[in-house]
Amino acid sequence: MARRPLVAANWKMNGLKGSIAELEKIIAGARSLTAVDLLVCPPATLIAAFAAKAQGTPIAIGGQDCHAEAAGAYTGDISAEMLRDAGATAVIVGHSERRRYYGESDGAVRAKALAARRAGLLAIVCIGETRAERDAGRTSEVVRTQLNGSLPDDSERVAIAYEPVWAIGTGLTPTRDDIAEMHAFIRERLLSRFAKTGRDMRILYGGSVKPGNARDLLGVDDVDGALVGGASLKAEQFLAIAGVYRTP
Ligand code: PEP
Repeated sequence: MARRPLVAANWKMNGLKGSIAELEKIIAGARSLTAVDLLVCPPATLIAAFAAKAQGTPIAIGGQDCHAEAAGAYTGDISAEMLRDAGATAVIVGHSERRRYYGESDGAVRAKALAARRAGLLAIVCIGETRAERDAGRTSEVVRTQLNGSLPDDSERVAIAYEPVWAIGTGLTPTRDDIAEMHAFIRERLLSRFAKTGRDMRILYGGSVKPGNARDLLGVDDVDGALVGGASLKAEQFLAIAGVYRTP
């Protein structure tokens, strides 16, 4: 089975009510993009409104994080069930900004991925090495450890986002060869862990994907789409990136 690509927008802590105009532009432009799944992950405050607007369109709406528990005394947190209730169908877990600013361990990320699936959401599990880890030649070891610790025990409703931390928001990207090497490595790990179903899991690339480099980066073997931060805030740029998958 060929993997259907996924291009996901991570808006991070950006967006107010008026940003629905940007979503409307994405919806309008997405009608011609039939060969790719499109996901917009706005801040939690906008999920319900975005999901209502996107209903019946090709755009899915997702969260950027969730708590591992379904409900409880966790002030300020949001559960996967709440995201689902608001209309989300996916959630990003283990983004490097969550790992870095909130000290999320692989175990915590795994618990969130399990929670996402419990609520019926697709879990997009983020992994990736820092600059120091890459420079020390530890990239594969770091990624292997993150995969081992962050993934559930089966592959159902899980996608991976390989995001070198040093490429996020910096304008820097790995070479095509580096991306190919890491995605092949991740695929091999998924096959060894999940057997045949590891072949069907999508491995997204993330880190400074822009309209100008998308064709190059997304054309690499075993790259099944992108997780896009900065460039996803503008409908035009997000659509140009997803347009790489336009059927001729
Ligand atoms: C991200 O935050 O997941 C990301 C890839 O950001 P950017 O595209 O801005 O590098």
